[in-house]
Amino acid sequence: MIDLRSDTVTKPSPAMREAMARAEVGDDVYGEDPTVNRLQERGAALVGKKAALFVPSGTLGNQLCLRALAEPGREVIVERHSHIVRYEQGAAGALAGVQLHWVNGTQGLITAEQVEAAIRPKDAYSIQSALLCIENTHNAGGGTVYPLSTIQAIRTVASAHGVLMHMDGARLFNAVVSSGVSATDYARHFETVTFCLSKGLGAPAGSLIATDDLGLLERLRRFRRMYGGAMRQAGILAAAGLYALEHNIQRLAEDHANARRLATLLQQIPAVSINPGAVATNILFFDVHSSRLSMPDFVAALKQEGLLLSAVGGKTCRAVTHLDVSADAIQRAGDIVARVLRR
Ligand SMILES: *Cc1c(COP(=O)(O)O)cnc(C)c1O
Repeated sequence: MIDLRSDTVTKPSPAMREAMARAEVGDDVYGEDPTVNRLQERGAALVGKKAALFVPSGTLGNQLCLRALAEPGREVIVERHSHIVRYEQGAAGALAGVQLHWVNGTQGLITAEQVEAAIRPKDAYSIQSALLCIENTHNAGGGTVYPLSTIQAIRTVASAHGVLMHMDGARLFNAVVSSGVSATDYARHFETVTFCLSKGLGAPAGSLIATDDLGLLERLRRFRRMYGGAMRQAGILAAAGLYALEHNIQRLAEDHANARRLATLLQQIPAVSINPGAVATNILFFDVHSSRLSMPDFVAALKQEGLLLSAVGGKTCRAVTHLDVSADAIQRAGDIVARVLRR
């Protein structure tokens, strides 16, 4: 089965499992897991921050940052199709007690002008803007990458208004590998940065939150405990994360090449519309025009032929490349789509 539903479906490789089996562990609630500590140091250094905190998921990472950086009753500016808006079960309201202020991005990316317009006036009756979140790469926007200059311009506006910044960098290293901008150059503009080990980096679970503010780190640690995200001998998971950071960052370029390869194959199919030029990293969206197959039927027919994709709308599909799909598998995936639509 060729599974292009998500880059979360990767399974730990034998070498990663070996590292997990050998991991030295301790009770991380006491700060005594040496492997977690090493992962936190390594992760912080990779993004040029002083410290990092290991959390079970990217969702928890985002939510702890919202909780720690914005008081309940404040407003948080986000792009309208961001993960925080669509896929975190309303946690921003339910748990952090903040109100989300949606801005319409272009393929998920927002501009400094939009941020300026979204920040509330500092008067006695307006809700106050506390925080701005940027998603890089932007998942629903098609794996899109922020130009560094856009982030710099947004930071200037945010700072002028005393608004803090968080980067949901679930796929930050896809952005880094694609743009050539270093993780540190992106991260320096944010109070907090999260990134997932469990997406394209191939670990089974875990994310890191990085920051320069050690007081904030302690607040994040307390909220992690409150939210039930503090773990004990988590070094077994952290070892997978360390392995991922060491071996699986540069190779993300292969996933990007495979996504472009797939886009080129799909473009040749008459019933498919896709813009290969819009494929920035490892996520691609394409539309299917078939009078014969509904979207659920299309996805089911692909599955019969050994290909899994996600239907994300009336005629739109999403495919995500990752370290468990080879260039060969991509060629076969393209053939399967062509065959199913030709029948
Ligand atoms: C996957 C993802 C997350 C976090 O997801 P978890 O499944 O909770 O680890 C956060 N933001 C974005 C943009 C994502 O794609």
